[in-house]
Amino acid sequence: MKKVLVIGSGAGGATIARDLQGKFDVTVLEAGRPFRPFRYPLNILESLRKTGLFIDEREIQWFFPVMQVRKTSEKMVLINGIGTGGTTTIATGNALRLDRELKKIGIDLSDEFESLAREIPISVSHQKHWRESTRLFFDTCKNMGLDPVPTPKMGHYDKCRHCGKCIFGCPPKVKWDSRQFMDDAVSHGAVLMTGCRVQKVVIENGEAKGVIARRGLAPVFYPADMVILCAGGFGTPAILQNSGIACKSGLFVDPVLCVAAEQKDAGQNREVAMPFVVQREHFMLSPYFDQLSFFFNKEWRKPGRNILSLMIKLADTGNGTVSGKKVEKILSTEDRTRLQQGIDLCKDIFLKMGFKTQDLFLGTLNAGHPGGMLPLTEKETHTFHHADLPHNLYIADSTLLPKSPGNPPIWTIMAMARRVGRLLKQ
Ligand SMILES: Cc1cc2nc3c(=O)[nH]c(=O)nc-3n(C[C@H](O)[C@H](O)[C@H](O)COP(=O)(O)OP(=O)(O)OC[C@H]3O[C@@H](n4cnc5c(N)ncnc54)[C@H](O)[C@@H]3O)c2cc1C
Ligand code: SF4
Repeated sequence: MKKVLVIGSGAGGATIARDLQGKFDVTVLEAGRPFRPFRYPLNILESLRKTGLFIDEREIQWFFPVMQVRKTSEKMVLINGIGTGGTTTIATGNALRLDRELKKIGIDLSDEFESLAREIPISVSHQKHWRESTRLFFDTCKNMGLDPVPTPKMGHYDKCRHCGKCIFGCPPKVKWDSRQFMDDAVSHGAVLMTGCRVQKVVIENGEAKGVIARRGLAPVFYPADMVILCAGGFGTPAILQNSGIACKSGLFVDPVLCVAAEQKDAGQNREVAMPFVVQREHFMLSPYFDQLSFFFNKEWRKPGRNILSLMIKLADTGNGTVSGKKVEKILSTEDRTRLQQGIDLCKDIFLKMGFKTQDLFLGTLNAGHPGGMLPLTEKETHTFHHADLPHNLYIADSTLLPKSPGNPPIWTIMAMARRVGRLLKQ
């Protein structure tokens, strides 16, 4: 059987590893360790916050190592997950179909979305237990004609405990993450190697021969008949560049900014994250207790239960770069204008709810949806394979997304990875 190396076990990697195992002999090389959720009560962290020790967002890795945090020159905080399950373990479970840009270039992933929906439970059943503050947000948006929609979520949300730990890995195991696909792949014979950071693909005479990875201190060569890069929007471009393959300077990240106010016992810090969404052309809004701002932003030095916050998630210009571990991403003038439109809309919502402009404060600009550095174009509609890559080197992660979705992309990334898997099986 032909030997396939899948690099990364996140949304794209776990999907394609599971789909290919059996037809191929699949080994997944994962840079991180087996994922563990943050099990301690959040009020312990809240007490620690009072010591003034939380100064820089990168400190979050001290107590939750899976969260990789970097900062751009503009101090935007960039987050991704390093560990089994990739960023899906720290995601908030949203499952939205975002294939408008793919359709524009002639790609229809309907079959892939349908098959995924048969395998992963998706519902809006968290809605039954929303807190009053969430209902008030929802009703206000509805009355303003903003068409709020309860967010479809992956997992068994009828059992959601509304504990607010979604981005800390959901200890009650309600939320689905890609480790479930990974476990399935392993139970069918795939091999998962953790702590194995791939540095580059070895290419000889136009063919991928395998990869060089660091496991422990020594670099190790892993041979393969085919290599599939799924190391995420930051990881895959770095591996490609180390392998002598140029990417586009087209990184997008979906910047997030929260507008918040103080309301006694709002309880949003214990609510399911992003319970509903309001879609606008260049951004979306959703209620979101921003843990990063809560721990590290001075404006947020208030009791967690008293903060009520709305997130703006922006579809940004693809203009960023990745160079090894360094990521650069500058918001364009257009991005800033659109972000301001989002802030203004959030303000209107808060004002309708009876708050005053002077009650409002902003969170920290952050982002966690990197992608787009080797996007699909019309040329790759049928192959999902770029001409610059050796014939046996594929990509199956957010790197392929043509544009910033300004929305949660897991569902779409998995559909793209499934398509790549189907093409390879053929
Ligand atoms: C806080 C937060 C909440 C989010 N919530 C949602 C949500 O609710 N819904 C949604 O759709 N999206 C959400 N997202 C975004 C989503 O999780 C990511 O866009 C998605 O997981 C990206 O999938 P991927 O396969 O491209 O990469 P990832 O899921 O990040 O997987 C990449 C994998 O590659 C591994 N890796 C990296 N470099 C290497 C290397 N050199 N060698 C080997 N392995 C490597 C990583 O450890 C990781 O396992 C959220 C993101 C964040 C930060
Ligand atoms: S709020 Fe629900 S989904 Fe989020 S961590 Fe708690 S149980 Fe899991």
